[in-house]
Amino acid sequence: MSLRLGERPRGPLLLTARWVVGHENDHHVLLPGGEVVVDEGAVRFVGHGYAGEVAHRLDLGDALIGPGFVDLDALSDLDTTILGFDNQPAWRKGRVWPRSYVERGPYEMYSEDELAYQKRFAFAQLLRNGITTALPIASLFYRQWGETVGEFEAAIDAAVELGLRVYLGPAYRTGNVVVESDGTMVADFDEARGLAELEAAIDFCRRHDDTHGGLVRAMLAPDRVETCTAELLRRSAAAARDLAVPIRLHCCQGQMEVDTLRRLHGTTAPGWLRSLDFLSERSLLPHATYVSGDDLDIIRDSGATIVHCPLVSARHGGVIRSFRTYREAGQRIGMGTDTWPPDMILNMQLGMMLCRVVERDIGAVRAEHYYDAATVGGADALGRPDLGRLRPGARADIAVIDLAHTLRGPDPIQSMMTGASGRDVTTVLVDGRLVMHERRIAGFDDETDWPRAQAQFDGLIARYPERTHGHPPVEEIFSSSYPLRGGAR
Ligand SMILES: [Zn+2]
Repeated sequence: MSLRLGERPRGPLLLTARWVVGHENDHHVLLPGGEVVVDEGAVRFVGHGYAGEVAHRLDLGDALIGPGFVDLDALSDLDTTILGFDNQPAWRKGRVWPRSYVERGPYEMYSEDELAYQKRFAFAQLLRNGITTALPIASLFYRQWGETVGEFEAAIDAAVELGLRVYLGPAYRTGNVVVESDGTMVADFDEARGLAELEAAIDFCRRHDDTHGGLVRAMLAPDRVETCTAELLRRSAAAARDLAVPIRLHCCQGQMEVDTLRRLHGTTAPGWLRSLDFLSERSLLPHATYVSGDDLDIIRDSGATIVHCPLVSARHGGVIRSFRTYREAGQRIGMGTDTWPPDMILNMQLGMMLCRVVERDIGAVRAEHYYDAATVGGADALGRPDLGRLRPGARADIAVIDLAHTLRGPDPIQSMMTGASGRDVTTVLVDGRLVMHERRIAGFDDETDWPRAQAQFDGLIARYPERTHGHPPVEEIFSSSYPLRGGAR
């Protein structure tokens, strides 16, 4: 019997490689030449010299077999934040709605098909990078308001077809930040609209949580703290408790947010959230880069998890100060990709470097600290002892990272941190299903999917002037690195 891409093999499958990351006594362990046996979607055995019968064997060579990554802020659109890379300030470059656009009446910049397609494309990219559990995030700048139930129903189809484990829920909000014609920024609120969206999101949770053999779970996703009213957050937290689902809220992520909260509520996000009884061990909080006073103590004492996304933060000049301090204080930390590329390995590598830079200490963090955050850290945030680790009884969510094409030291996790990238992920299993093998993903076609995604993104870029302050042409919104000298782009 041969293994088929996109399918769960019939009968036990034995995987072996130069290195296996197993799990004993609540810690990862390294097994040189180890074996992992998976059957019916679960891990049956991790160790050496498996004595049982197997139906299939797959030797992955000079590679690391480990748990798939858990991405708590998983990039799920064609990432528009990359357009801000060298184009600032955000309010002049189409990242804050101008009053003129609000008055005209905001509208969806993608068709329903395009909204569905970008999720499908993004889910494939997550798998390509070894991410096996994803809590999608997307920008609302190009949306009419919040995300829709319809697109999330399409996202369920995409996740199930590709075989990605997901926690899904449309993002909603009661407010938005608007830039006036003179450049000042104000928060606009429409509470009734946001509360109606919350009701739709709750209904989505009820209908879709724990479906498709557990591959699809639900979550609540109020967008960002400065675009939520107290009532929305109170009701959201109560609903998360009732439904027993995770709830994610962006907070402590920028100066505009800090200033807005100070003005509206006289406090910081953690202080305000505590007063609303919002924080709990279900709470997932990207990005915690802007904290002061007792903010971190409030977050830690509530049991909430900080969602750490070093790449997107660093691109905006932000950093947590520091990963070591948070970790040693007992802060729960999971990881997110949040931006293009959705490369968890790159995020871990950058996170390590930034920690050492801000601490001015090469000993401030070790490779295993970040590997833990991207695996067990995320799984624990979701209350999932069956994810993020390979041990008997866990779900068979596995990422295989090729190490044959990098210079290797004696330790494979350290070699990954110094030499590998997301492109070195070769094989991925989710729930025992072989969703990617030899870099090919079942249901994703390199020849047609890349041009389609790029064409869709080009269309969105072309529409940027419509919601950019002053409505300048595309060429003025997006700077060029060097002078252009004729010809077509
Ligand atoms: Zn984020």
